[in-house]
Amino acid sequence: MTVDLILNNTRAYVNKNIVECSIAIENGKIHKIGKENSMPKAEEKIDLKNLLVLPGLIDVHVHLRDEGKAYKEDFYTGTAAAAAGGITTVLDMPNNAPVTMSAETLRRRMEVAEKKVLVNVGFYSEFPKRTDEIHAIVEEGAVAFKLFMMEQVGGLNIDDDNALLNAFEIVSKLKTLVAVHAEDKETIKKAEEKFKQSNRNDIEAFLKAHSENAEWKAIKRLLNIAKQTHAPIHFCHVSTKRGLEAIIDGKNLGLPITCETTPHHMFLSAKDLKKIGGLTLTLPPVRDRKSVSAIWMGVKNGWIDILASDHAPHTLAEKQAKEVWNVKVGIPGLETTLPLLLTEVNRKRLSIADVVKLMAEKPAEIFKLKGRGVLEKGNMADLTVIDLKRKHKIDASKFYSKAKFSPFHGWKVEGKPVKTFVKGNLVMDEGEIVAKAGCGEIIRRE
Ligand SMILES: [Zn+2]
Repeated sequence: MTVDLILNNTRAYVNKNIVECSIAIENGKIHKIGKENSMPKAEEKIDLKNLLVLPGLIDVHVHLRDEGKAYKEDFYTGTAAAAAGGITTVLDMPNNAPVTMSAETLRRRMEVAEKKVLVNVGFYSEFPKRTDEIHAIVEEGAVAFKLFMMEQVGGLNIDDDNALLNAFEIVSKLKTLVAVHAEDKETIKKAEEKFKQSNRNDIEAFLKAHSENAEWKAIKRLLNIAKQTHAPIHFCHVSTKRGLEAIIDGKNLGLPITCETTPHHMFLSAKDLKKIGGLTLTLPPVRDRKSVSAIWMGVKNGWIDILASDHAPHTLAEKQAKEVWNVKVGIPGLETTLPLLLTEVNRKRLSIADVVKLMAEKPAEIFKLKGRGVLEKGNMADLTVIDLKRKHKIDASKFYSKAKFSPFHGWKVEGKPVKTFVKGNLVMDEGEIVAKAGCGEIIRRE
């Protein structure tokens, strides 16, 4: 037979080892991994000149915007940013305009995305107002539910414990999972009001309002719900030592919980936030040294399951609002995450195995993304090709994302994604997008 494509002269992460091999690709899938002389005939061959091939990386926390928020980002620019950053699959958050919280809004979003995406995209849904609509959302193919605990975004009343219990019970029966933004609304709103009344408008006040206690309280509340319903809960962007410890306790009790952290919670601290200002404002905010080292420990020890960018683009004007309370929270992260991590691989603080586990294997396993996360015969030919020794400087003005700012702007990094293959198609080559819009796949949960 003749296959579509063979990648020769590669080093690839296969069976938890880096091996020298060739990879044959047929019909968007991995057909064979082996010695060059054992490969079938091919329509096309690419010599990868000893570059390292990883399973296509998966970012489970991305805000692609589009629709009513297309001025911040759209499906094309967001997925171009992903491809440029070496990410082949992203999961899109539901706080959109309109909010993704029904089968209809989800279907519409998939339709808009289909013609524009360059990488694979799965979709979260918020909870609907009526719990009897949860089933239809799952049927439509939502990969998971997302629940914002810090403010009311979806239809489920976050102040009502019984409503939460009921919704999580249904989720548990439908064998899907809930990803949560765990910050306690009441704690934050109270503190925020107090600061606003005394005309406080500084980063310090913002940090105090979004206290470590607010994260811990929300996590404890959700652990209680996990105990009662056994619904799988995934904690997004864990940021504090206390919060992580509560999650570890829950894991030790055998609860079906997982968690993620972000590069900004690993590489930045409250000190950077105070220095750089609103541009670095995210939720939860970056924390003090003590929490940063606890998060690193969690990453190294495997207590933290996933690394995700929380790519959350805004306009520069929105980031530079006068009042700290009006600054839009979030930063773009798709194009900085992998270079930052590879720099740590070069510094021996992380290994390639860590990066693959945190950004491919675990995401695929936890979110049940079949045929992804591992390089093996029969899996999708989603591949991230990196040059581990390539040095460069992060330049936000060159981002594909519409959000051309970053707290990491100007950082010197070592290690770069140089080619991104999605379903066997070369999408990014040496920083250029070389594929047509629509070549990514819309992922529906089976
Ligand atoms: Zn987010």
